[in-house]
This record gives sequence, C-alpha cells and structure tokens, in this order.
Amino acid sequence: MGSVDAADLRCHRGASAYSLLPFLLTAPVTEFDPPTIAVVVVPAPLKALDYLLPDGQPVAPGCRVEVPLGPRRVVGVVWALKAGDTSALKPIGRVLDAEALLPTSLRALLEFAASYYVTPIGEVLRTALPPQARATRAPIRVATPAFRRRDDAVIDPSWLRRAPRQLAVWLALADGPRALESLKRQFGDTVSEPLRALATRGAIEACAAPLDAVSRTPIALNADQQHAVAAIVGALGGFQRFLLEGITGSGKTNVYLAAAQAALKRGQQVLMLVPEIGLTPQFLARIEAALDAPVLKLHSGLNDGERQQSWLGAAQHAAQVLIGTRSAVFAPLPNLGLILIDEEHDGSYKQRDGFRYHARDLAIKRAQLANCPIVLGSATPSLETLRAAELGAYQRLRLSLRATGAIAPEIRVLDCRALKLHEGLSPPLLTAIERVIERREHAIVFLNRRGFAPVVLCHDCGERIGCPSCDATLTWHQADARLRCHHCGYACPKIDHCPKCASLNLLTQGEGTERIEQALQRSFPGVPVVRVDRDSTARKDGLKRQLDTLKDDAPGILIGTQMLAKGHDLHRVTLAVILNVDQGLFSADFRAPERLAQLIVQVAGRAGRGDRPGHVLLQTHHPQHPLLRTLIERGYRAYADGLLSERRELGLPPYAHHALLRAEGRNEAQVLEFLNQLMSATPIAPSVRVLGPLPATLKRRADLYRWQWLLETDTRTVLRDALDALISNAAATPRGVRWFVDVDPQDLS
Ligand code: ADP
Ligand code: ZN
Ligand code: ZN
Repeated sequence: MGSVDAADLRCHRGASAYSLLPFLLTAPVTEFDPPTIAVVVVPAPLKALDYLLPDGQPVAPGCRVEVPLGPRRVVGVVWALKAGDTSALKPIGRVLDAEALLPTSLRALLEFAASYYVTPIGEVLRTALPPQARATRAPIRVATPAFRRRDDAVIDPSWLRRAPRQLAVWLALADGPRALESLKRQFGDTVSEPLRALATRGAIEACAAPLDAVSRTPIALNADQQHAVAAIVGALGGFQRFLLEGITGSGKTNVYLAAAQAALKRGQQVLMLVPEIGLTPQFLARIEAALDAPVLKLHSGLNDGERQQSWLGAAQHAAQVLIGTRSAVFAPLPNLGLILIDEEHDGSYKQRDGFRYHARDLAIKRAQLANCPIVLGSATPSLETLRAAELGAYQRLRLSLRATGAIAPEIRVLDCRALKLHEGLSPPLLTAIERVIERREHAIVFLNRRGFAPVVLCHDCGERIGCPSCDATLTWHQADARLRCHHCGYACPKIDHCPKCASLNLLTQGEGTERIEQALQRSFPGVPVVRVDRDSTARKDGLKRQLDTLKDDAPGILIGTQMLAKGHDLHRVTLAVILNVDQGLFSADFRAPERLAQLIVQVAGRAGRGDRPGHVLLQTHHPQHPLLRTLIERGYRAYADGLLSERRELGLPPYAHHALLRAEGRNEAQVLEFLNQLMSATPIAPSVRVLGPLPATLKRRADLYRWQWLLETDTRTVLRDALDALISNAAATPRGVRWFVDVDPQDLS
C-alpha cells in the first residue's frame, strides 16, 4: 500500500477525473479542426491531463511522451488527440517513442477498467505498464517480426526500377509474408532501409511472422474434447464466451492447446491466464512442448528486465502465446485472437490492494474489445460465472470423464467427534495414511494454516500473545524459532513468560502445517514427509526440490496449504486429507462455503490420477452438515445450485452488486468521523442499500484502524452513480486518513 502522502494524491480524483473519459469506448466526435491538444495519462493516481501538442511533430496515440507535472518531468502515454482551447496548457516535453506501444484496444480496456473500478486512469496505467516502460526515457521500439505486401499496394514500376534494393525485397515478398530474420539472412542487416522505404510508400506492411509448421505432436482429443475444440475454433474471429466445465483430469488443458493452435494458425495471439500457483515449470513445459510457437511468460517471479522483455514481445505482431498470471490481462497483444482462463474461479485473479481489479472480468471485456472468443475453464466454476451462464452469457462445454480413464476418487467424511486427536489427527485418519504407506503410495494432507501453532496462550491467566500492531494473535513458527504475525509481517523471538502475569506456563494451541509435519514424522518414522507452504518454498526452486525427495517407488507424505492443490501432477497420490473443513463451514464470510467446495473438489483431483483409485477424507466435527452431504452425494453442480438459491434469497452476489468504501488511519475516531461525514454529506439513491460503518474483519492491521461502508445494489449503474458521488465528496480527505473503493470485493477482511 502506498504511503499516506501518495494516497493524498487521490484528492485529484473526483467526478471530474472521469468526465474526460471515455475517449475510446464511445466513438469520438469527428474533428474537423486539426488536433492541437494531446490527452496524456501518466502512471500515477491522476485523471488524464491535457497538454499542448508540439508543432509539426507527429505523435501517435499510444506513444510515450515526457510531460511536465508540477515541478517534475514524468513519462506519460498519449491517449488521444483533440482540438480546443490551448491557452492555459503546458506543452509536451519530448516525444519518446516513434510508434505506439499501447494498442487502441488495450487503451480502451484501461479506460473501461478505470470507469468500472472507479479508479483514476493513471493508476490503472501504472498497473498495466512494466516498471521499465514507466521509467526509461529511451525510445522503446517494438520489433517487427515480419513483412508482407499490402493488398492495396499501388506500384509504379518506374519507381521500383530506380530502386533496385527495394525491387529485390518487393520480389522476395511475392509468395507471402517473410520473417525479418529470414530477410536479413538473404539481404544482410541493411535490409531495414529498403523495408522502411517500401513501408513509407504504402507498398508493404508489418505483420505476424508466418508459422513454419502446424504442431510438433498432434494433441490427443476424445469426443468431448473434440466437440469443445470445434465450438471454440468455430467462434474464432468474433466475440463469444465459453464456459468449459471439466472435472479435474478431464483434459481441459488439451482443449486449450488445440484451440490455441487454431488461433496461432490464423496468425493470431493467444492470451492464457493461470492462477498464481498454477504456473509451474511442469505446466509451462507441457504448453511449450505442444505448441510450435513462441511462448511468452508474464508473472510475479520475473525481474524488471524479464518483465519488460515479455511485455515487449507481446507488443509485437506475432503469432504467439502469452501465459501469465492476473496482470497479464494488461499485456499489449495487438493481434489478440483467443483468451483462455484456467481455473476461472481462482481467488488469485482478484487484485487485493492498490488497484483492485478482477482479471477474469477484465479479460471478458478485453475479448469483447478484441472481438475474439474467451474460454473460462474450471471444474468448479464460480457462482458469478454459473449465474451468468444461467442467463445465457456463456456457451457451456462439458468434459465429464477423466481423460486418462482414471476412476474419480471417492470423497468421504471422517467423523472425528469424541475421538482422541493427536495434534489434530484422528486415529482413523492415521490408519488410513498407514495403509497408503504400506502400499508404497503417497498421501497428501491439507491444512490452510502455516507455522506450528496459531496461538500461544498463558495457562495461568489466559492471555493470548497478540501482535502489537494488529488485532490478531502471533503464530509460533518452530522452524525458525519466531513468533510471527501473518497480517503485518511483525516477528519476534520466542517469549518465555507471559507479558501480562509473567507466568512461565505458556502453551501452544491449535495446529499449523509445521506441527502436523512433526506429528506425521513421529507417527511414520522413516517415511519422507514433505511440507509445502509459503515458508518451506520461499527459496527459488524450493518446491521442486522438496517434491523431488518423494520417490515413485517409495511411500511418502505431503503436508501443505492450498499451494499443493494445483498444478503438480502427483500421480502416486492415492489419499488426500483435508483437516480444517469446519472452518469453511462456519465462517462469517458468505463466500467461505463456495471456496471450501472448490478446494475439496480440487484436492480430490489430486488423488488417484495414476493407475490407482484415490480417496478423499474430510475430517470434521459436523459429518451431517447439509453442505458436505450435498457436495459428496450430489456433486459440485448441485452444491453450487443450492448456494445460488441461498444467495438469491439473501440478496447477495451474484444477485446483487457490492462495493466497499474503506477508510483507514491510526486514529480510529478520525476514521469513523470521515466515513460518517462522507455518508451524511452524499445524497445516495434510496435503492442503494448502505451498511455501516462496519469494522473490517481484522479491525486493526499494521497499526491502522479499518472501517468501511458496504454498498449493495441490484443494478450496476446505480452502484456506479453512488460511488461517483461518494468519490467526489471524499476529495477533502483529512491528513492521516486514507481510503479506497473496492468494486466486487471478494472478502471483507
Ligand atoms: P485438467 O486440466 O482438466 O485437470 P489435464 O489437461 O491436466 O486435465 O489432463 C489430465 C491428464 O489427461 C493429462 O495427463 C493429459 O495428458 C491427459 N489427457 C488429456 N486429454 C487426453 C486424451 N484425449 N487422451 C489421453 N490422455 C489425455
Ligand atoms: Zn499470563
Ligand atoms: Zn501484525
């Protein structure tokens, strides 16, 4: 999160921040006067700004320029040109790029995002531009991969005869597009001169590099998969939404690959979004092996240089695939032909700080702007997507069998009431793991809590050791002998006496992954136990090295957080165990049951992928819970239908729209006063249900008190109007208070 000072810049937003927008989403008024003004967006929380165009120097929208902003000179992007009164305007400093870096469809997407998420366009741009493009003043050139003759080229033979090098290149393009690399091999590096001359004359143009071959290996498709691929391929060239519902292991990836191949063959680009933890080396290798096209990667593991490279690669007109996490939805991709979203329900598509966007929702808009199909794939679609599908927004494609023929695992509840628990593990659970070990197979145990124990308690006075900056207890991490706060990062060495009564009688309470790891090691001596969570995999390649310690022909146990639930083809796993099921059943968050079912189904997909059937055990104190019964007896779809009707009755998303207006600051009274004043000073339509001010689930975090208003409406427009009104009234934020809006919040924590 930014500092309070940076947040103060938000005062610049206000209704006027959006009045300049949209430029691109609505067709511009035809301008008869030559443009004199450049509308420039700088990557900072500001609205678009007007500057005077330099005389005679052409600037294309989408190019970067240097502009004066207060006392500084900053890099911005030309958004649009217009005519008008220039008397009060400062001139553009310098034009940095010769060609547009941001294609029109991307700028239109950013505009849409700014308006939908009521965020200044500059902040949206800051998220979209890689750091180097925001900083460097050097021109950024997008490499041109290939050239072809223009269909409308009018050639004057006398001119070509006078330019023998241009003539030679012109003739070389007779049979279709040629890659720049291949032209260089034929004519030498100086081929760029005749190419430029021919392009200036309108004889040739840049285009996607021709793909040499179709594919190295044909992609295996069963009947369901063929049907799905045919539907998607048939839709290439137009906007259409698909929901690919396929149980885990049903071969969704092969459908993505075959559809991607078809788009590549058309010379188009493919954007594939994957959840953060899904982008494993295994998965990438599988994609690269199957496709005979460049595969670019954009994810959080890259350094600034690598990020810039992938981003620039995506700016080229080339037939290629870009695989990335959330922010890849903002890659340039001027030639986009297909969007694929794997595990569309995954929570990591939602950005939870700064500019709070949802990559899946923006990807749908992007597909519409690029006029291409989009495929949302999942074994457990989100309720939002299921509801939209019910309304007819999606063509549904189903994959109902495991592609390898493996049998779907059996899910059972393990009633642990009244049983003696060993560090949270019941005797029948230990027996089940023992059987797996006897068969020299692997078991996975899931627990969504890292560390050794979430609570350290004084046995004499009952004090729980809390974080000095948050309303939360500290988690004991035995591996590095520290107490850590999982909310603010605070850490301190072991405490040996109670801070309140000085007693030495301190106990650890509850279980985290470290504690289960130890318990399993004690119960199964000699069997490798691998722990997979954020702590154990912090180092690069940590996860891979850990997984490598498990051998195919020897027993093994994995214990981890949901990091383990995706991506790794753990084909020796025949038992999967979920420990804290009850947390998901009884959470205050109305989305918890949806997430729990998604986790259970995902985990079930981890078991029995190989030639042996698998089991899933849910350890619970509530074996008769109707949600668990529905999921087990009737499956995810029935469960989701049940949740949907519950949400309809309660008027919750996706049947209503939510937005949060949260304020935070060190002085709680000031925060509350700000929120109350803002709400009483803003006229809000009676159809907006306003709840609050409510404390965030974690009321104090990192020394900030956090309170919020929840806005709930039946229609988007009403919500937008209410937010616009609030934002323009919030311009005068007191010092020490910062605030933000979260449209479609995914949690209230
Ligand atoms: P999902 O993404 O739906 O969970 P995957 O795409 O990972 O499933 O496929 C599961 C396994 O099935 C993979 O090992 C894949 O190679 C294999 N597979 C997919 N489609 C076929 C097919 N048509 N014939 C044989 N094997 C297939
Ligand atoms: Zn005490
Ligand atoms: Zn803390």
